[in-house]
Amino acid sequence: MLQSRLFAKTSKNFPKDEESINAKYLLRAGFIAKNSAGVFTFLPLGLRVLNKISQIVREEMNALGAEELLMPALIAKSYWEASGRWNVPVVYKIKTDREEYGLGWTHEEVIKIIADQFILSDRDLPQAVYQIQNKFRMEPRARSGLLRGREFLMKDLYSFHKDEGGLGAFYESAKSAYLKIYQRLEMPVVVAEASGGDFTKDFTHEFQALVESGEDTIFHCSKCDYAQNKEVAKVKAGDTCPKNCGGEVKESRAIEVGNIFRLGQRFSSWFMGSYGIGISRIMGTIVEMSHDDRGIIWPEAVAPFRVHLLALGLDKSETVKENAAKLYETLKAKNIEVLFDDRLVPAGEKLFDADLLGIPTRLIVSEKTGIKIELKQRREKDSQLLDVAEVLQCLNS
Ligand code: ATP
Ligand code: MG
Repeated sequence: MLQSRLFAKTSKNFPKDEESINAKYLLRAGFIAKNSAGVFTFLPLGLRVLNKISQIVREEMNALGAEELLMPALIAKSYWEASGRWNVPVVYKIKTDREEYGLGWTHEEVIKIIADQFILSDRDLPQAVYQIQNKFRMEPRARSGLLRGREFLMKDLYSFHKDEGGLGAFYESAKSAYLKIYQRLEMPVVVAEASGGDFTKDFTHEFQALVESGEDTIFHCSKCDYAQNKEVAKVKAGDTCPKNCGGEVKESRAIEVGNIFRLGQRFSSWFMGSYGIGISRIMGTIVEMSHDDRGIIWPEAVAPFRVHLLALGLDKSETVKENAAKLYETLKAKNIEVLFDDRLVPAGEKLFDADLLGIPTRLIVSEKTGIKIELKQRREKDSQLLDVAEVLQCLNS
């Protein structure tokens, strides 16, 4: 991709009225645009990141044995009335002359009705289906960029079982699949017990990314896997671990990036489980966790491009122009995703934007580097001067 041709551009300044790091950086770098509070456009660069996160989630859901489908966002009032969730405060309601709808904020009601058509007896069980779809919620506090959207991308998985035991076993495999997803995203999470609200007396589990800017508070052990949301915890910071492992309880702020629920028979005569992952929230969380004062630092697995190629002094030197163009073609031929900064702007601006965009590997071709290439990882301070073969070797390892 040629940077001069990108639809969206970086801004000279941080957006006004944004307090969260993720909103500041993603807006300034041209990954997203803001439409209204909690409502965002994913610009081409941002969509690349979002799609990469979705793809990782999709692969692990398929590996779990779940099938992908896509339900509507426009859901007739009768569905919500059947479950008693029409008057939940988060629902966006739409009224025409003849009909009333609630925009999908979760899909237990819809999947239940569909499942009833296909699950005719215990022999049709177990089943698991998921979708990756925009959800709509009237969130009162939509002030933290992608972390709390009014329209946001979620993966929601639903499973159906003939008994409690079947649900319990699947629940554990779903938990493992989730842990694999966060591992692939390079996002350390703590699995915290939380309240099931009016759905279940059992604990639910939240996947919490430990980030200072998070809205949630969790208590977790320094030594073992004990972790609980503040809402249910009966400990305080400094207590000895209730699991008697000898560790100490710590209090941390965290962002809930996923959760899993054993719903039992609340929605259907089958035993049902419901499992969510906030895909767009994950994108915001990555920025909250992985940045410095100059910009974003994308982990390789979700970066919009693998390589950012910068040609410095393009307008002054034919050699730079030729060398950079040649390297760009070489990288593309090797199927390495590359963003080529071919803009006729000062070197300082290119370097500044490269740090802001946060692509993992930066390659510089300039008068100074000559036939060599300067390679620098966004995460690291030092750069290396390499030839093309060495650069390719470095990108492959
Ligand atoms: P929260 O407590 O943060 O409001 P929730 O308990 O309402 O989350 P679920 O309804 O279970 O969450 O949704 C599943 C996942 O979707 C959550 O774990 C979270 O990652 C994500 N999510 C929920 N609400 C939002 C939102 N407004 N914007 C972005 N992601 C969200
Ligand atoms: Mg909520």
